[in-house]
Amino acid sequence: NSIIHIENIRKSYFMGKNELQVLKGVSLDIQKNEYVALMGPSGSGKSTLMNILGALDTPTAGKYILNGHDVSRMEDNALADVRNQEIGFVFQQFNLLPRLTALENVALPLVYAGVSKKIRTQKAEHVMEMVNLTERMDHKPNELSGGQCQRVAIARALVNDPSLILADEPTGNLDTKTSYEIMDIFGDIQSRGNTVVLVTHEEDIANHAHRVIRLRDGVIESDVRKAVKADS
Ligand code: ADP
Ligand code: ADP
Repeated sequence: NSIIHIENIRKSYFMGKNELQVLKGVSLDIQKNEYVALMGPSGSGKSTLMNILGALDTPTAGKYILNGHDVSRMEDNALADVRNQEIGFVFQQFNLLPRLTALENVALPLVYAGVSKKIRTQKAEHVMEMVNLTERMDHKPNELSGGQCQRVAIARALVNDPSLILADEPTGNLDTKTSYEIMDIFGDIQSRGNTVVLVTHEEDIANHAHRVIRLRDGVIESDVRKAVKADS
């Protein structure tokens, strides 16, 4: 039941005749409904791996199956379709449009998908509930705290009902307390059946996830699952 299946992927960047090997054979399975933190020193290949997982880039060699789609062999158009169907992205910068309300920002991906206004509003309100932000739906981003803006961005990532949420340093601009709140929101999302993979530099933040994968020099150095509590 893997949502992510990668087999011995390699990624090189070529500059003239120089080859920089960034991923040197990474194999990984992530099951549906996992909550995973990806860590590793700067330059270890985290962003490169996240770009591949997010179908923004393809590996130089190896296999990537995303929810049954063989992404490693896709052309750009097909890649974009899979990305739009399967993945919700969250970034360190919240990337909200300043002139739109929180609800309108959240509904925006549905505008692009051609969904009617009535259904857009229903869906946007539903995901605003999932991030506990229903009382701020009509506020503009500059009237919201950083944590609230990130919750809007998470709601926007959820509105298309993706099978995978990918977040690159989602707490990078937030204080510690707010960061933990955001990690708890991702935990709620995971417990509702979604899969969450995020990158963080911070140990305390990564520890909120259920599985911590460490990259070093383009290979997986460790992959540790927390024990699931017996009483839950
Ligand atoms: P991390 O996210 O862990 O810091 P990255 O995946 O961003 O690591 O980068 C790994 C290595 O790949 C670094 O040495 C970086 O300079 C190099 N790199 C990343 N993207 C490119 C690119 N588009 N072209 C050339 N080199 C790149
Ligand atoms: P706490 O923050 O109290 O230490 P945890 O983060 O360990 O709690 O767990 C919170 C919830 O996440 C629990 O209800 C548990 O069922 C679930 N959980 C913990 N580990 C895993 C895991 N490896 N896979 C799936 N769910 C998990």
